[in-house]
Amino acid sequence: MSWSFETDVDFQEKLDWMDEFVRQEIFPLEVLEVSHDQLVQLLRPLQQQVKAQGLWAAHLGPELGGAGFGQVKLGLMHEIIGLSPYAPFVFGNNAPDSGNAEMLALGIESSGRLEQRERWLEPLLDGTLRSGFSMTEPNSAGSDPRLITTTADRDGDEWVINGHKWFTTNGSIADFLIVMAVTNPAVHPYQGISMILVPTNTPGVTVIRDVPTMERPQIHFGEIGGHSEITYKDVRVPYENLIGREGEGFRLAQLRLGPGRIHHCMRWLGQSRRAFDMMCERASSRFTHGSMLSDKQTVQNWIAESFSEMKASRLMTLEAAWKIDKYGAEQAKVDIASIKYFGAKVLHNVIDRAIQVNGSLGYSCDLPLESMYRAARAARIYDGPDEVHKQTVARQVLKGFKQVEIPSEYIPTRKAQAELKFAKYLGVSN
Ligand SMILES: Cc1cc2nc3c(=O)[nH]c(=O)nc-3n(C[C@H](O)[C@H](O)[C@H](O)COP(=O)(O)OP(=O)(O)OC[C@H]3O[C@@H](n4cnc5c(N)ncnc54)[C@H](O)[C@@H]3O)c2cc1C
Repeated sequence: MSWSFETDVDFQEKLDWMDEFVRQEIFPLEVLEVSHDQLVQLLRPLQQQVKAQGLWAAHLGPELGGAGFGQVKLGLMHEIIGLSPYAPFVFGNNAPDSGNAEMLALGIESSGRLEQRERWLEPLLDGTLRSGFSMTEPNSAGSDPRLITTTADRDGDEWVINGHKWFTTNGSIADFLIVMAVTNPAVHPYQGISMILVPTNTPGVTVIRDVPTMERPQIHFGEIGGHSEITYKDVRVPYENLIGREGEGFRLAQLRLGPGRIHHCMRWLGQSRRAFDMMCERASSRFTHGSMLSDKQTVQNWIAESFSEMKASRLMTLEAAWKIDKYGAEQAKVDIASIKYFGAKVLHNVIDRAIQVNGSLGYSCDLPLESMYRAARAARIYDGPDEVHKQTVARQVLKGFKQVEIPSEYIPTRKAQAELKFAKYLGVSN
């Protein structure tokens, strides 16, 4: 029997270091108004400190320079990294580079194309190259990537790619893009869609714009975190730019998405924690209608509900992480799907309540809550909308049930069965 909620003492020391580091060194960066290039310069020395602690790109296995921590430890780290939107860059696991590096590594393992390691993977891990993941299209439903229309046709030793994508995060600052494209329309998309690496400066690649969003309505082209619209017109790249084997696009994407969702959910808890603290601090400081806000029962309810929801989300996510470590991502599929929509909702709820308790201050740009709120809304859409994950969970749960004519709990039937079962005793007492 083993059932523990404790963190190893050694690892807790690392987490404590991270927490202090993020609050003291990274929080101040959030309020500076600097250019993209200045920001990159500011991040470099912080990245060196993380490397010196052995915490850089910790999601990677030791063969790729990571620590091979496993998902539970990574989850706990991401809870701290999630405190600040800049922290993932400082810790070498910012989306989409972190996921793309994992997919490249998995692809190299599958195809044996070792030259991709030196040419693309190592510089990506080192932070000297940037990447984008180009799957979603404006004209097909991203929630069902089997509908992808972008094609990659083989022509001798080259792929010729044609298609229209959008929401390719970091597309406008990426050195290369990983494009999901149909390479064999004759078979099911699970076997007919592949990932192909396309350097952004290849003729025929046009990064049209960074799409303004609820999070960044005034985005300027070429900023970190921009979501790019890109067209691919007769784009030619060598056949060797295939990642993994032909038709492996979905398999590789799935392999990295499971653990990636643990990291998302734990980062959302970091954000929730910040909002929660802002709610409690204001509740403890603001006087109105004869008492402090913290004395009002509605505010107490919000604090208690947020506390419990965050705790539930944390335990669910860490359990899913534990399952991945113990049995693999496939076995944890339902747990991962359920934390994705549960965690996104908790994040939204906690920030919303924090804004309400802070009143006009919460709505203003003098607190980070309004930008956190706008960013949080996307969590219910990216990486699979809530509804798709709920469908996965419900379908799996429903497998445990079969059609019946009379409900199993129907009391008249149960009563008749119970009377039969205990007839001997019932007869005696009567
Ligand atoms: C901030 C952000 C970053 C992103 N980054 C990237 C990236 O780097 N690369 C990339 O390729 N894409 C990226 N995306 C795109 C994202 O993956 C898609 O938006 C997502 O998969 C949904 O696809 P869609 O927008 O086409 O919505 P649709 O597929 O058109 O779905 C619209 C809505 O329909 C509903 N719906 C869908 N399926 C079902 C169902 N089965 N049952 C009930 N309702 C359903 C849901 O409410 C859903 O929100 C990003 C998106 C955001 C918001």
